[in-house]
Amino acid sequence: MLNIGCHLSVSQGFENMGKQILSLGGNTFQFFTRNPRGGKAKDIDKDDVDRLIILMKNNNFAPILAHAPYTLNPCSANERTREFAFETMADDLKRMELLPGNMYNFHPGSHVGQGIEKAVPMIAEVLNTVMWDEMSTTVLLETMAGKGSEVGSRFEELRTIIDLCDYKDKLGVCLDTCHVFDGGYDIKDNLDSVLDEFDKVIGLERLQALHLNDSKNPLASHKDRHEKIGEGYIGLEAFERIVTHPALKGLPCCLETPNELDGYKREIELLKSF
Ligand code: FE
Ligand code: FE
Ligand code: ZN
Repeated sequence: MLNIGCHLSVSQGFENMGKQILSLGGNTFQFFTRNPRGGKAKDIDKDDVDRLIILMKNNNFAPILAHAPYTLNPCSANERTREFAFETMADDLKRMELLPGNMYNFHPGSHVGQGIEKAVPMIAEVLNTVMWDEMSTTVLLETMAGKGSEVGSRFEELRTIIDLCDYKDKLGVCLDTCHVFDGGYDIKDNLDSVLDEFDKVIGLERLQALHLNDSKNPLASHKDRHEKIGEGYIGLEAFERIVTHPALKGLPCCLETPNELDGYKREIELLKSF
């Protein structure tokens, strides 16, 4: 069975997201741990989270994804910004233990002129500071489109971060279809060779989740503009190959397409029909 869901708003609570995704036909979802532009997180209602855990158990959910705020930049040259990354990730990961065994996805960051070589150890340093041995959450590095000075648009960059991390057994990768396509990996016409390359450079066992998004722009455009499934340059046939690919079987897939809930419902239905 395809493990599929979409990005949801946490504003009505955790159990509500579980109910919402069930009504859309999904069995996983993603949410922001706090305002995507940064700021303080709301206090978590433990009873609400416990009700979600029961709902997930009763309905065969795949692991769910928490997404770090966009403003989090572990390789920022700005001291205050980098401090925010340390504090936010540490706090988010502590809170994630209320929802044990799920995933925390973040953007490796933007090096803003410092260069990749300087940025990669900075990212690993944040991970090594905020992760710990007994944590139950898998931390996911998201593949990026390479917009501006984004780190993580080449598999090699992600591999180097992983190599420098002390908690490798709790570290994975989330492949965003729009981002890798924008980054120059042709998942439309050469899915097998992209997955081969991922395997050679990072190892397919690290691939733990997918973000399913079509792209408003052609291959290697480094733009990061998500499109509805089948309406962009990646196209529907490629998504059929992706969600039925044996190497990707069982991974939680989250849509981050420009949709309201009814649009997500249609996309979930469509992808499940393959
Ligand atoms: Fe993301
Ligand atoms: Fe994404
Ligand atoms: Zn994106």
